[in-house]
Amino acid sequence: MDEIERLRQEIREHDHKYYVEAQPTISDQEYDQLLDKLKQLEAENPELITPDSPTQRVGGAPLDEFTTVTHARPMLSIDNTYDAGSLFKWARRCCEALDHPDDETYAIEGGYLVEPKIDGVAINIRYENGVLVLASTRGDGTQGDDVTQNVKTIRSVPLRLTAADAPPIPAVLEVRAEIFMPNAEFARINQAFADEGKQTFANPRNATAGTLKQLDSKAVAQRRLDFIAHGQGEVSTNEFPTQTSFSAALREWGIPTNPIATTCATIQEVWEKIEEFATSKNELPYGVDGVVVKVDRYDLRERLGTTSRFPRWCIAYKYPAEQAVTKLLNVDWQVGKTGKLTPRATMEPVFVAGTTVQHATLHNLGEILRKDIRVGDTVVIEKAGEIIPQVVRVDLDQRPPDLPPIAPPQRCPECEGEVESEQDDTGKETARHCMNPECPAQLRERLIHFAARGQMDIDGLGEKIVIQLADAGLVNSFGDVFELHSKRDQILELERMGEKKVDNLLAGIEAAKARGLDRVLAGLGVRHVGSTVSKILAKHYGSIDALQATTEEDIRTFQVNGQESGIGPEIAASLHHFLQSEAGQTVIDELRTAGVTLSVPQSDEDSTEQIFAGKTFVVTGKLEKYSRDEIHALVEKLGGKASGSVSKKTDYLVAGEKAGSKLAKAEQFGVEVLSEDDFQQLIGSAG
Ligand SMILES: [Zn+2]
Repeated sequence: MDEIERLRQEIREHDHKYYVEAQPTISDQEYDQLLDKLKQLEAENPELITPDSPTQRVGGAPLDEFTTVTHARPMLSIDNTYDAGSLFKWARRCCEALDHPDDETYAIEGGYLVEPKIDGVAINIRYENGVLVLASTRGDGTQGDDVTQNVKTIRSVPLRLTAADAPPIPAVLEVRAEIFMPNAEFARINQAFADEGKQTFANPRNATAGTLKQLDSKAVAQRRLDFIAHGQGEVSTNEFPTQTSFSAALREWGIPTNPIATTCATIQEVWEKIEEFATSKNELPYGVDGVVVKVDRYDLRERLGTTSRFPRWCIAYKYPAEQAVTKLLNVDWQVGKTGKLTPRATMEPVFVAGTTVQHATLHNLGEILRKDIRVGDTVVIEKAGEIIPQVVRVDLDQRPPDLPPIAPPQRCPECEGEVESEQDDTGKETARHCMNPECPAQLRERLIHFAARGQMDIDGLGEKIVIQLADAGLVNSFGDVFELHSKRDQILELERMGEKKVDNLLAGIEAAKARGLDRVLAGLGVRHVGSTVSKILAKHYGSIDALQATTEEDIRTFQVNGQESGIGPEIAASLHHFLQSEAGQTVIDELRTAGVTLSVPQSDEDSTEQIFAGKTFVVTGKLEKYSRDEIHALVEKLGGKASGSVSKKTDYLVAGEKAGSKLAKAEQFGVEVLSEDDFQQLIGSAG
């Protein structure tokens, strides 16, 4: 149908305007409408879904493990330097090797290319005939992991390149790029992790690497990663004389490159850029830990060659981590939704890495004790990943005599409730918790979490509104949220609450009732029970009644498709305790009375005969009748398992046209190979 292809083209053009040119011509809402329309048309005509359709970013079964792939060209890492002297020496070595005149400017023919070194994860993305076919991590430089499913979820990565008048898209085009997590997203994820009582990421690079390692691409899609291209792997033409010209072509085809990359004639100019960038880098929306300097001309790169580990034509200058010295003025304790008390430092304002900083996180009580941090101390602070300042250490020489240690809170700072101490295996105190189940601060935090995206996703019930409603006494529990429609008049009396706003809020609450068991579970804020765990639980048990009726042991040991569910003893104990507690029972009763769905919605449920139970399927090649994701979905619906790689354990390989290495492997392992028709016959009427 022409309409479908026309819509796809239109969406790709808007992606290009948004991600490459940074000049969108339609609003996000209009964009979403286009995408919804395409989704609807494709749902009506599933035979027309192609893997490169903009709707196909998320999908596919979670993988058991990543397939190892061999890079067509090795992915070497880059040699580092931390001072101007080494940078100049590198330039001299390049010029000597290229027989350039020895005039100490170390000017290089074609110039040096200077780019920000983004604090992310290196990736190779392969396009064949303009369609994304493979994305792989660096790994050991020779072999990496196939992370295609995950990379496809990144909106700025084109699934199909935009054909330009010139230059034509090479048949094989490998792009080397950096996948990274923008600062704002890093802050959002870490906040969510902290709320769930999980270990937070130290910096955006770790967060990116951790995200790319997820075996379920749906989890990756929930974190907004970004990417910027900065080089090439295998490319089937050599019509580009420099990286600058290659980058210009990439932009034509829809691949974002760094707009602040620039060329310099001499190494002195390069050094000036590096110094200038030391401060301006802090204004970028992503973390940068240095600058990459490259010889721009590809023919000169060829002549310079590589050592066993690094290319000789490239070097990274790394900025030292930015630290500052200041004085610790106060520590206050903030109450989280599970009652955990988190210490926050207030310091004399100090300028570090581009901003004035007054607060730092001290993470937890254990950290204060370990670093022996005291109020009145002179402390060294550092911006981790250039964002969240933290106290690195105390300058003990500056400590005034008789400075008392920080006294851990004996009572909750918000409700005066009793606190309980938490210890690690060695008996050292690590944290304190407010034990008052009615603590207003905990309640507030729990409600904010409950209503937020990823949980009940209640439109119109953001942080500020929750606080306003809680302070007015209109909500004291999760159940109260769903009784708000009977308090319309009281809500209208609150500040900045108009008719329309209240109606939207009430409509948002009504809509959230049907989110389903997994979202309710994630929203309850039970310790260790986040959204991934909730999905597994909901799928297995199907309803809150089944969960309540089961034992702790069953939660700990149940299997999913013959494998461990991944739900460990800590999670099982925490959840079971909640479900059996009086408070837990009350919460569930209230939600039930309010009409909140406490089971898996019927459409999601497996009611079909499990004819593929225990069988593992792999799909490969170009398919005509089904998309790969459709086959995965069918296999799972019928009780089987879809995997990304062929092994001895594979039962069936569904192979389309041009099936390559997977087909060879299947034959080697004696795996039964099915055509699409065979597959269709196999599922018979069940599909
Ligand atoms: Zn409290």
